[in-house]
Formats: sequence, structure tokens, C-alpha cells
Amino acid sequence: MSKSQEQIPVEKTSQKTVIDNADFIVEELTEFDEFHFSTIAEEGSWKREILRKFARKNIIVSLRTEKYDIGNGNHAYRKIWQLKADALRMAEDVVENRNPILPCGHSGFRNLRDGPFECHYRGCSRQFERADGEFVEVIE
Ligand SMILES: [Zn+2]
Repeated sequence: MSKSQEQIPVEKTSQKTVIDNADFIVEELTEFDEFHFSTIAEEGSWKREILRKFARKNIIVSLRTEKYDIGNGNHAYRKIWQLKADALRMAEDVVENRNPILPCGHSGFRNLRDGPFECHYRGCSRQFERADGEFVEVIE
């Protein structure tokens, strides 16, 4: 029996994209067994860019096309997607086994020009300062 698309492992050249976006996968995609892009992200948002990249790199696979109502008796079509099981496993592994350096649970930050550190994950972006060797959240 042939494997379904969803069961085919993530290609080697796509693995870095999964690892770089592990937080996005775990926080945004795990609650949906299948989805269309607007379930996850508004048109034009950074999340859409990630979904398009996932599609190009076969990290999410298109299951079927769905017809839907756009009002006034008109219809349009959209693709229904599913995250590859392998991508989910990899992302969960990254998130569970890393050593988070920020109190928000993510790792990786960028240093803002005038001092604070901002969490690198765009879905979070909380800011921290160092105090006595620890990160303390900056509350505005
Ligand atoms: Zn964070």
C-alpha cells in the first residue's frame, strides 16, 4: 500500500525551515487536523508567508480543494492543507528539547537598539532586560 502524502517524511532541504519555525508549528498548527490558510492567518500577514513557504517546501500538503460560499450566490475554491506528521514530530522535538533562555519559553532573541531583548518568535515578541544575570520582562 502506498503511503499517503501526509506520511511522507519532510525532505532534507526543508528540515531547516521546520526547525526555524518550530514555535509557529507547535503554537499555531497543532490544534488543526486540517486547515485552509485563512483558518490560521489573515491575508498579508507574516503567518501567510510562512504557510506559503511550507507549501513550497512540502511541509504542508494539499489534501483537496473545497468549494465555499462567498455570498450573493457565488462560490470560490480553496485548498485544504495538512501538516506532515514528520514536521510535527520534528517541531515538537525542537521545542521540548531545547534549553529556553527566555522566560516566555522560546529561544532566540534580538537585541533592540536601545537596550531590551525581543523574543525572536514573531508570535510572541515579548521584551526582556537583563537584571542580575536573568531576563526580566519589560512591562510598558
Ligand atoms: Zn517568546
